[in-house]
Amino acid sequence: MRSRAFWWGAVIAVACIGGWGCSSSSSTPGVCEQSRALIGTVVTIKAHHPDRRLAEEAIDAAFAEMARVEKICSWRGAQSEVAAVNAQAGGWSEVGPELMELVRRSHHCSLLSDGAFDITVGPVVELWGFEQGGGWVPSPEEIDGRLGLVDFRALEIDTAVGRLRTARPGMGLDLGGVAKGYAVDQAISLLRERGVLGALVDAGGDLRAIGLRPDGKPWRIGIKHPREPGHVLATFELADGSVATSGDYERYFTAGGIRYHHLLDPRTGMPARKAVSATVWASDACTADMWATALFVMGPAAGLGLAEDLDGIDALIVEAAEGGLVASLSSGLAGRIDLIDPALTVRWADAGDLREH
Ligand code: ADP
Ligand code: MG
Repeated sequence: MRSRAFWWGAVIAVACIGGWGCSSSSSTPGVCEQSRALIGTVVTIKAHHPDRRLAEEAIDAAFAEMARVEKICSWRGAQSEVAAVNAQAGGWSEVGPELMELVRRSHHCSLLSDGAFDITVGPVVELWGFEQGGGWVPSPEEIDGRLGLVDFRALEIDTAVGRLRTARPGMGLDLGGVAKGYAVDQAISLLRERGVLGALVDAGGDLRAIGLRPDGKPWRIGIKHPREPGHVLATFELADGSVATSGDYERYFTAGGIRYHHLLDPRTGMPARKAVSATVWASDACTADMWATALFVMGPAAGLGLAEDLDGIDALIVEAAEGGLVASLSSGLAGRIDLIDPALTVRWADAGDLREH
């Protein structure tokens, strides 16, 4: 469980994201909407069904499903499966099929991103104190002392038996970069089972849509501007699909004029510096969530090339350059996104090369 201070941070963040397209039921007539604090953020679910009562029941059930996922993945909750694996660090732990699958998918992302995404980053994340709602800069010695515990290759996955082993005592899994996306996917499955005609689940900027709005139009989504609070960087339409953003502006503190945020480069234990935000489009929210974190850490030069090569992934990676913000976009986004900020330098990936406009 995260601290009270963090919850408030999340509420403010979501209020800003919701400023465009995602929050008010009055802007989408006929849609039922509810928001609840869950999985470390504020989750908003919108859904519509010819029988409004059934839409409301489906939303309740979807929230209950997300709470169930949180119970599996929360590495702080002493009762969670992840906490049990961490308590057994160095030895084998039997885990359920869902955690197994999440870890397997995370491991795959680690391999493809060459370790930019790594769920064994837990012991280093802990040093920074973001979970406590604030943060402090650990000493280089403290970070060095933990870096040897961060290595996805030291995580053994036995799918036949359904068990995991973190090879080194002291290792710790942290599913913060992927659990929200999975919870969103589960909520969507449930809403679909209940027969809703269209739905949008937004877990603090990790979102997935099915179907259309009651007016027959796709859901309209705004991506938060990474440097202008309350403003939108880009807008786009989403019917069936997912999008997730990782940014250095959600959870950070400033010390000595330097911004320190919660997205760490697992190789250095320090906040990754190559991007200010990364937004990823994918068919499911788990994939979008993982890759948003991975591409944020990789930055535009390496990240966009990889996004171009990966099937079913599109990406918008924003970096801070001397002349201002630069947005690099994968070619699949052409014609699908409106960039709002006129000061933005825009680059499109084209067959692996970035072409400047
Ligand atoms: P947010 O939680 O703001 O939506 P992310 O989805 O990118 O952002 O997840 C950030 C969380 O993921 C951190 O709070 C931490 O728990 C974990 N994390 C940080 N760095 C990494 C990394 N390089 N790989 C995997 N997980 C990470
Ligand atoms: Mg993520």
